[in-house]
Amino acid sequence: MRSGEREDWQRPQHVPGVELGILRRLRCWRRWKADLHADSVSDAPEAIRTRHAIVVGAPTHPKWLIFDCPCGAGHRVMLNLDNAHHPRWRLVTAMPMTLIPSVDEHSPAGHCHYIVRNGRINWVGRKDR
Ligand SMILES: [Zn+2]
Repeated sequence: MRSGEREDWQRPQHVPGVELGILRRLRCWRRWKADLHADSVSDAPEAIRTRHAIVVGAPTHPKWLIFDCPCGAGHRVMLNLDNAHHPRWRLVTAMPMTLIPSVDEHSPAGHCHYIVRNGRINWVGRKDR
């Protein structure tokens, strides 16, 4: 490592007017966040960035939450947010992401059961993640 490299990397960036945004982004950097939006399920991209989720529907009336499962096997998770349908999940906070209740899915990749709270994944009933 060249001298000074580490210091350069750690130096905070000051951009007038958006400090709060950067601080918030840094705080959430390693956490899950529902910060993407799509008008319909078919508008969701094929690849979703790691630790990001897409809210589908109007902000006042979200219908789906879509993300790629944190197990890393590459299967997509679609959770219903619409009051009119069951089962239903509630996106308590988007950034960082908190979901109620837990996500309990059986997929070709196996059984994925986890709690998303404060942007972190807490696996239920397994110690290897
Ligand atoms: Zn999974």
